[in-house]
Amino acid sequence: MKKYNFNAGPSMLPREVIENTAKQILDFNGSGLSLAEISHRAKDFQPVVDEAEALVKELLQVPEGYSVLFLGGGASLEFCMVPFNFLIKKAAYLNTGTWAKKAMKEAKLFGEVVEVASSADANYTFIPKGYTVPEDADYFHTTSNNTIYGTECRVDLDVPVRQICDMSSDIFSRPVDVAKYDCIYAGAQKNLSMAGVTIVIVKNDALGKAPRPIPTMLDYRTHVEKGSMFNTPPVVPIYTALENLRWIKAQGGVEAMDKRACQRAEMLYAEIDRNKLFHGTVAEEDRSVMNICFVMNEEYAELEKPFFEFATSKGMVGIKGHRSVGGFRASCYNAQTIEGVQALIDTMKEFEANH
Ligand SMILES: *Cc1c(COP(=O)(O)O)cnc(C)c1O
Repeated sequence: MKKYNFNAGPSMLPREVIENTAKQILDFNGSGLSLAEISHRAKDFQPVVDEAEALVKELLQVPEGYSVLFLGGGASLEFCMVPFNFLIKKAAYLNTGTWAKKAMKEAKLFGEVVEVASSADANYTFIPKGYTVPEDADYFHTTSNNTIYGTECRVDLDVPVRQICDMSSDIFSRPVDVAKYDCIYAGAQKNLSMAGVTIVIVKNDALGKAPRPIPTMLDYRTHVEKGSMFNTPPVVPIYTALENLRWIKAQGGVEAMDKRACQRAEMLYAEIDRNKLFHGTVAEEDRSVMNICFVMNEEYAELEKPFFEFATSKGMVGIKGHRSVGGFRASCYNAQTIEGVQALIDTMKEFEANH
């Protein structure tokens, strides 16, 4: 039976990206060696990093003066690297979910953290608006897409200070005005590659201002200077990222990803709103087009498990909601197809008709 992968992360990648990576794992560029067993300093590997970097810059139209890094440690390490490198006295954070909260926790180790607004009291079902970012903050940190709760801000905000954004679960799903940010980071396993690599886009002249000594590996300048080759980078995940970046470009770039994401989300939210069994969990204007969360209507609460089992029998994978929301979450990252979303919609319709 055909499987439809709605995993929240690690998550679906385009089939050709997996296949091309698999080929290179068996025989890298016809060398007779596996991609997994070559040196990251091999002359054949440098072009991989160079092309991946160039494609990131091209796809997001990264302005001059920024570096693109491929690091280890996941987005979780960036929660600490960001304040280590950028927090001088005081930073502003928008608390929109579990990941935002974790980022704030690390920042508190380095200075004053102002939580400008929070939707924690409403279980993060909306993205706060109308707050004020202090003009003397060193930076304003946001999470563009809240993977767990299914809220998203798909615009680049206007605030009086430099911005830093965790784009782990929606990077490359829309055009971004990179010039507004000193740093953008994303663990790759949601929308770009397999787990193991983190992409960081950093403004070079914003570095070196923090008043503290920074351990070498945690200093962005190290990785800027060494072109992500200070130590052994995650070679295979970087290769997979390259394949996926090529795929995104061939599909029409981030504009095409944006259009498709909105189309998929529109289809699925329309069904959630129509179907008598389900309702969405977040404020309509903040609905994520990447992680689509829905729960059973109260009078059908006992059908939650049967629906999950029915959907599983129809080939749906990974639609269980995060434990802090419950219900269901269909993650529709770049690789998700209209066909996959339609299959889920058909499943919801069929289940409704049976009850
Ligand atoms: C998954 C996720 C993280 C954590 O990423 P790791 O790579 O596991 O550290 C952080 N932020 C967001 C928005 C995420 O979706």
